[in-house]
Amino acid sequence: MSTTDDEFALIRRYFQRAAAPSSAVVVGNGDDAAIVATPPGQRVVVCTDMLVSGRHFAATAAAVDVGWKSLAVNVSDLLAMAAQPMGFTLALALPEVNPAWLEGFSEGLHACAEHYAMTLLGGDTTRGPLTISITALGWSAAAHPPPCRSHAREGDGVWVSGSLGRAAAALALGDAAPHTWREALYRPRPDPEAVRGVRPALHAMIDVSDGLSSDLGHICRASGLGAVVDAEALVGLEPLEHPQLSQDQRWHCRLHGGDDYVLLATAGPASTLDGWTRIGTLHAQPGLHLRWPNGQVSAIPSLGWNHFS
Ligand code: ADP
Ligand code: MG
Repeated sequence: MSTTDDEFALIRRYFQRAAAPSSAVVVGNGDDAAIVATPPGQRVVVCTDMLVSGRHFAATAAAVDVGWKSLAVNVSDLLAMAAQPMGFTLALALPEVNPAWLEGFSEGLHACAEHYAMTLLGGDTTRGPLTISITALGWSAAAHPPPCRSHAREGDGVWVSGSLGRAAAALALGDAAPHTWREALYRPRPDPEAVRGVRPALHAMIDVSDGLSSDLGHICRASGLGAVVDAEALVGLEPLEHPQLSQDQRWHCRLHGGDDYVLLATAGPASTLDGWTRIGTLHAQPGLHLRWPNGQVSAIPSLGWNHFS
């Protein structure tokens, strides 16, 4: 910022709100580094996600939504490793001090932090093209193996914790999209409860951020397997009924649409993940396929989001 006084005032004003006391935080925001105590029997889980203006969100996006989503996408990554969210740091590059933007951004960010009972442990603030980088911390019980992408087994059921395609449909439809779809796009709410009850049954898990074809593809490749997805189950999850969406567009949203931030997991054939929906099965034969109600099977092309493709 222009002077260091401005920088410190900005940090104090927007990012050093008194957080709800957390017994895990030994030293909080305001020193050179934060110190966190690990509860007995837990492991520390860490992830980082970066959001660049014009790349991950439109320069015109509402600041309050950007604030919410920049933390929510990290929560989604923590949950995908079966971690319970704990805290985060915030690295912020700002082209200018824009109080209206900072007000909205910090409001959305703190609202999301409160929703997940996460503490803002510290960060860094500098001048530069608008970029938000959050590193999030969580706890994961050491007693269970981590649900790595490579841990899926042949015969596993493929399960999802929520609906697929709403965020992509909202992006395609703009203001014409129903409220719940717009919420899915702008205020994703990955659900820690979805993981809690099913943890012992999990083999592999990933969050669906780049689209089903891309993210299920990651599990399949890492585990050396292929998947057959049940078309009817996908439609049942979310019919995506809307006069401005063709059948082709609906399928594109379900199979390749990003930004859903629901969880995709595999579990043994005898397991049922309560509250989740089974959408398919893993097989030794590689590749992703869709099975239609008439028994026909077609290949799913891999069209999910990739920043460098
Ligand atoms: P240092 O020069 O030691 O790196 P800084 O001046 O960058 O410290 O930051 C001062 C304090 O404010 C630190 O505790 C840091 O974690 C915190 N901080 C800086 N920027 C942010 C931010 N964007 N969000 C939250 N905390 C921040
Ligand atoms: Mg610093």
